[in-house]
Amino acid sequence: MYNIFSQMDEDQEDERILSRKHLMEDKDEVSMRPRTLAEYAGQSRIKENLRVYIKAAMERGEALDHVLLYGPPGLGKTTLAGIIANELGVQMRVTSGPAIERQGELAAILTNLEEHDVLFIDEVHRLNHAVEEILYPAMEDFALDIMIGKGPAARSIRLDLPPFTLIGATTRAGLLTSPLRDRFGMIHRLELYSEAEIAEILKRNAALLSIGIDRDGLEILSGRCRGTPRIAIRLLRRMRDFAQVKGCGVIDRDICSVGLAALEIDERGLDATDRRVMLAMAEIYRGGPVGLDTLAATTGEDPGTIEDVYEPYLLQIGFLAKTPRGRVLTDQGFAHLGLVPGSRPGTQAVLDSQMALRDLTELSDEDNAIQE
Ligand code: ADP
Repeated sequence: MYNIFSQMDEDQEDERILSRKHLMEDKDEVSMRPRTLAEYAGQSRIKENLRVYIKAAMERGEALDHVLLYGPPGLGKTTLAGIIANELGVQMRVTSGPAIERQGELAAILTNLEEHDVLFIDEVHRLNHAVEEILYPAMEDFALDIMIGKGPAARSIRLDLPPFTLIGATTRAGLLTSPLRDRFGMIHRLELYSEAEIAEILKRNAALLSIGIDRDGLEILSGRCRGTPRIAIRLLRRMRDFAQVKGCGVIDRDICSVGLAALEIDERGLDATDRRVMLAMAEIYRGGPVGLDTLAATTGEDPGTIEDVYEPYLLQIGFLAKTPRGRVLTDQGFAHLGLVPGSRPGTQAVLDSQMALRDLTELSDEDNAIQE
């Protein structure tokens, strides 16, 4: 039942270590996921609310209201959904928006639910329109409207469904249609984690992985994983390898320096791709403003990936800012690259940017138009 690997193929396209997306090496994440709200680090406001709602629903003997969880990948949406089901003492069925192609597939899932079960739909913004339509009465009235026959003889019958809880997860709440969004009783935005919260997660996972990590190791790693548990756990695994092969089996300052240098992760947790994005902004666009599509074309990244994966953290640490005319690199961003805003870039950088600019001549100025 608790299977989250149905749509991993897309995630495997992006193999960078700091990717927030699910990679193949994260496959035993499931066994290490926290199972209770107490084990789930951070997100205290959401946890407090959920404790109340879960208790109230259980006392009334009702299904929990539908929940929408949104936020960047790797912040714990799937984990939290599993915890909600566990705390409610019910089963969780897992699927994802793109995995349900036809109405019949969703109907089959819904009719197989037991009373008060949780149905988790990842990437809920990617449900197709026809499928989404049968979700409306299912969420609102616990009913399924099915058309029988075709043409003038067609008639609709209504099937009752067991009361259930839909938990939808999305990285883009803005892409959800409003009829769907309105049917969620609770909407929670997951925040990036503080370093202390990440350290808590690292400690728990180090114990589960049977690897020692000292105070320095915890401090260093918790500052390098972009406030994202999935990245923290992945870095921990890599450091475990370095500790095993090069060190004495404990993740300490030395192991972190060797390991993080080998992975090209700098002291702010940025990797080569982040720096490439920032460098393009500094050198080609003199810090911006630059439109998302133009930036994507210059760096060879997908606009959605820049928006979902790189940008949230760069915005959070103040290296990037969004303006009505596009993204700009801030003074701190320039300083991190060792550049002065408005300064002339070095020779190699000029050559690179000229090549990039040549590639860009085909692009229309529309890309630079107002980006949200
Ligand atoms: P998402 O569904 O948002 O992409 P996941 O729920 O798959 O993220 O979480 C990614 C990994 O991070 C999992 O291994 C999970 O155990 C861990 N994790 C996420 N949030 C927390 C948390 N608050 N406390 C402890 N571990 C967490």
